[in-house]
Amino acid sequence: MKKEEQFLLWFEQLERKDVDIVGGKSSSLGEMTAKTDVPVPYGFATTAYAYRYFIKESGLEEKMRAILSELTDVENSALLRSVSSRLRDAIMAEKMPQDLQDAIGAAYVELGKRVGEENPYVAVRSSATAEDLPDASFAGQQDTYLNVQGAETIIAKVKECYASCFTDRAVYYREKQGFDHIEVALSAVVQMMVFSKTSGVMFTVNVATGDDNNILIEAAFGLGEYVVQGTVTPDNYTISKHDHKIIDRCVNEQDIMLVRKKGGDCEEVQVPEELRKVQTLTDEQILELADYAKKIEQHYGCYMDMEWGVDERTNKIWILQARPETVWSRRNKEGGAKVQESKSMTTTDHKVIVKGLPASPGKVSGRVHVILDPSRIDEFKEGEILVTEMTAPDWVPAMKKAKAIVTDSGGMTCHASIVSRELGIPCIVGTKSRGEAATVTIPDGIDVTIDATHGVVYEGIIEEAKKENQAGAAVAVAEYFPPTGTKVYMNLGDPELADKYSSLPCDGIGLMREEFIWTTYIHEHPLYLIKTGHPEKVVDQLAEGMRQVCQAMAPRPVTLRFSDFKSSEYRDLKGGDEFEPYEPSALLGWRGASRYYDPKYIEAFKLECQAVVKVREEFGLKNLNVMIPFCRNVEECEKVVKIMAECGLERGKDFKVWLMAEIPSNIILADQFNKYVDGYSIGSNDLTMLVLGCDRDNDTVSHIYDERNLAVRRAVRHLIEVAHSEGKTVSICGQAPSVYPEFCEFLIKSGIDSISVNPDTVKFTKKLVAQVEQRVMLDALTGRGRKEVEELDWK
Ligand code: PEP
Ligand code: MG
Repeated sequence: MKKEEQFLLWFEQLERKDVDIVGGKSSSLGEMTAKTDVPVPYGFATTAYAYRYFIKESGLEEKMRAILSELTDVENSALLRSVSSRLRDAIMAEKMPQDLQDAIGAAYVELGKRVGEENPYVAVRSSATAEDLPDASFAGQQDTYLNVQGAETIIAKVKECYASCFTDRAVYYREKQGFDHIEVALSAVVQMMVFSKTSGVMFTVNVATGDDNNILIEAAFGLGEYVVQGTVTPDNYTISKHDHKIIDRCVNEQDIMLVRKKGGDCEEVQVPEELRKVQTLTDEQILELADYAKKIEQHYGCYMDMEWGVDERTNKIWILQARPETVWSRRNKEGGAKVQESKSMTTTDHKVIVKGLPASPGKVSGRVHVILDPSRIDEFKEGEILVTEMTAPDWVPAMKKAKAIVTDSGGMTCHASIVSRELGIPCIVGTKSRGEAATVTIPDGIDVTIDATHGVVYEGIIEEAKKENQAGAAVAVAEYFPPTGTKVYMNLGDPELADKYSSLPCDGIGLMREEFIWTTYIHEHPLYLIKTGHPEKVVDQLAEGMRQVCQAMAPRPVTLRFSDFKSSEYRDLKGGDEFEPYEPSALLGWRGASRYYDPKYIEAFKLECQAVVKVREEFGLKNLNVMIPFCRNVEECEKVVKIMAECGLERGKDFKVWLMAEIPSNIILADQFNKYVDGYSIGSNDLTMLVLGCDRDNDTVSHIYDERNLAVRRAVRHLIEVAHSEGKTVSICGQAPSVYPEFCEFLIKSGIDSISVNPDTVKFTKKLVAQVEQRVMLDALTGRGRKEVEELDWK
């Protein structure tokens, strides 16, 4: 029988692509069970087919559609509550078809055999088929039932899972996201119960900042529900992904925990006095968990959000859940801004009322509304600051109206934190663990300023926060960048700035000068490192610099330009004196391609190539391409391309080799260079120097040095024509378009494929390109185009 038509499937029969059959949670557990060696508790999942079978056999669809038609205003909490509750009641009132009940009963017997217990305790969780997808977060929306025992109870809980598909929150989300309520089928996971003495969550990306260098673990005593609900403030551990070391830990006092009672029910108990202030996990356990997190991230190829537990009976760590992290997966992919450390406000005149964990960054001022009783949530008004003990799923409609949120308890992964980050509103959690509870310390109705970037609540309105907010809004409006035909790339210097600039609206990195990696990370001459027996330093550190940039920009392309130090610059690197000649004019000397095949340098060039291979193959960052600088003749180009190919860098569909067009010969002989490269990037700095015979570093002739000179422009035009005639692309990475908008306009009108500019002119250039392209199009339509083209030859 086809998978799609079975009532239930065991984890090992599932893979992640089965999300339509069993939902995100179940397919993810299946994928981990079947394809990784991380420990996942045994279990099976009922399918979407089973859910639909139940809905159809019981005639529920029509009943549900009728009830749903009454939901005319989803923002009306009372109406939402009544419709949702009637939907749930309708489901609970129906009996599950007998054949479905039998299938679940038989699987439960089989599960007992696997666990080695008759009548084992299981957890029954729901897994909606639209849940857990990176762009449709339903995280935590459906219910989980712990300590369930016996086939009959399981069947009842599966039905409750079905009903929980219609909580207020689930209905609200689906309405807002435009999902059809009947289409969203539900799968129930039935899984061996792990009796956790400690448990928690972990992330492979810092969920507050988007930094993906570390793994974050939150851990608390007892069952994990209190971490997710934010009832306790868990310990936080940060583990570096690169060297697998614990780099930060914050141990929070925990006085209560949720535990399983003997008969199966859960109860809240006091944490024994001697454990309250000690680390919840041992270092060994932290590292074991981090290892699983890394494996899971590697396997899925995206940021992951996981739940885990340590079984009290066996001390074994189990991975209970793994799903793609929702917010940063999307933002970082789109090249969105990671949170930058912003300046603190002038706050000395303002009293600090309370501090907590900065869970979702941002600064705002506004009026506080303290809500302790969930039944009063309807009193919350648009634009107020919500202060409460902890939010819960049913609070989402109110949270959407909030300007900021402050809670007494919770950690970085509690409900308030997750939802605020998704909504993009500032949020501070866990104030109780930092001294005083917000609900006690912040009086209702007062004005406060929330600095959720630093986790502080100040008394009164701080004008700067207001301004920052307004500026933010103004920027958001002004920052629309229309797509352009001519791509706009960025020239990047220091690789450490890649993160900061990754949010700019550029299409990739058009020039990453390798020299910057040497001066930022390596500081030693490559031939000296080879001589002293450390060639691996060159490869590793070059690769690290490239990785930073490629990762920050992914999936946008990055062009690394191989080394183009002049001998005078190389000499400044440690040990360089021994290897560098003294040249009368270093700018015209031993630089760029002429080194790469030279027996005196070739071994160093091979290391440069190896670093590129490492980034592409080992780190899997295939967005890295390369560029050859200062290549004087076709023979040089041929030799260099050959060495690269021998090192494993052969031009291909997903690997491009560009040539800097910065020597007149590159342009005059473009028809011959075409054979060896995918295209060109104009180095207008050197090209202008060499076309005009004007030393770019010599002040005496600087008044003659001008990239806009007709000779340079004709060279540019010629290159574009010859390159395009054989399907090669042309870009530019010299300074000219960053400095002269009219030159930029000339390039666009000449049909250049892309323009790479300095970070500070990316936004301006992006808009300029859009305007010019639009004008060119209009001119073409109105017949003005020809005159424009003639005028390009400024005198
Ligand atoms: C150029 O020559 O225009 C260029 C971008 O390279 P560099 O300035 O590094 O020589
Ligand atoms: Mg140059």
